[in-house]
Amino acid sequence: MAGTVCVELGFVEKSPKWKLKSKYFPSKVGGFPAWLELHNLPSSDELLCKVCKKPLVFLCQVYAPFTDKEHCFHRTMFVFVCRDGSCSKENDCSNIKVFRSQLSRDNNSYPFEAPKEEESGCESPGAADFHNLCRICGALGPKVCGGCKKAWYCSREHQAIDWRGGHKKECKESDTVQNFTAKEGSFLFPEFEIEMEPEELENEPNPSEEQIMKDYEDLLRTGNANNSSYDPEDEADLIKMATKETDKQFRKFRTRINQYPDQIIRYDRGGEPLWVSSDNKPKDIPQCPLCGEQKQFEFQIMPQLLVHLKADSTGRSIDWGTVLVYSCSQSCQQDKGYVEESVYKQDYTPVTDVMNSPSYVKRFK
Ligand SMILES: [Zn+2]
Ligand SMILES: [Zn+2]
Ligand SMILES: [Zn+2]
Ligand SMILES: [Zn+2]
Repeated sequence: MAGTVCVELGFVEKSPKWKLKSKYFPSKVGGFPAWLELHNLPSSDELLCKVCKKPLVFLCQVYAPFTDKEHCFHRTMFVFVCRDGSCSKENDCSNIKVFRSQLSRDNNSYPFEAPKEEESGCESPGAADFHNLCRICGALGPKVCGGCKKAWYCSREHQAIDWRGGHKKECKESDTVQNFTAKEGSFLFPEFEIEMEPEELENEPNPSEEQIMKDYEDLLRTGNANNSSYDPEDEADLIKMATKETDKQFRKFRTRINQYPDQIIRYDRGGEPLWVSSDNKPKDIPQCPLCGEQKQFEFQIMPQLLVHLKADSTGRSIDWGTVLVYSCSQSCQQDKGYVEESVYKQDYTPVTDVMNSPSYVKRFK
């Protein structure tokens, strides 16, 4: 296996914000989405959580053109998730949505030639050239503040967040209101660039049993570390309980990511996902409703990304073993700017047991 390259891995990288704008076709985590197609953004309704019906927040996007298809000269996959931890359920992806957007080289959003990499003029072309965007989430903002008539929102929820977060005061001095301010921390996830690199597997010895158990404990801790009621000592017995049940698939999972423990994305279009568990693999991958071709695995989001998100400190946070994205194998032509694709969530088997145990429920819910 030495030197075999088959999977592209994504890692977070701190980058200047201007490099992460639509104009430069970034792969990134957090902040506002850097929309690819700029004229026909998803509607506010399309970006609602299927569980609580509130707006989703942008999680990440992966720039992934198909070099053999002219209509996919530019192509980006966008992932959104519900911020509300109580919508996050084991092995259930109702709180996550994925969209595909693609453009030929000759398109009405960007110039034919690649842009010069410079800070000045980084905002344009961007979706804000053509639309009012929600100040809180960066999605379409069809609703305007009745006071200043300058602040736009996707929803009442986001207007309320902004009002409490300072717009109440700002609204009165309406000359200074800017349409568009990405505020991380309150609602948005912290922003990072995603750097993609090939996974080169070397013939390293497999990690010891002890190492795997330690890694597993770390992962479980990561899931709870953001929790306000987190108590490392209390948690020890829960972890012991969970590690007893780690399954074979999880060992394989840890062995494979051992060489690159910081990976947050595994991109392997048409390949086989790296399962975290032998249970709850997605069944019945659908056909593309637009062209009838089979959907195929495209990429997965790894649990390591959770470490960078600083998810909610109240209540149960969002969580996953891995998030799996399946998309049209042909990446077929689309009339819409954004087409919804399929997503699945797979969690560590033992975590289900732990989370349903009386001691966990008492402590963390
Ligand atoms: Zn929700
Ligand atoms: Zn919004
Ligand atoms: Zn206002
Ligand atoms: Zn299709």
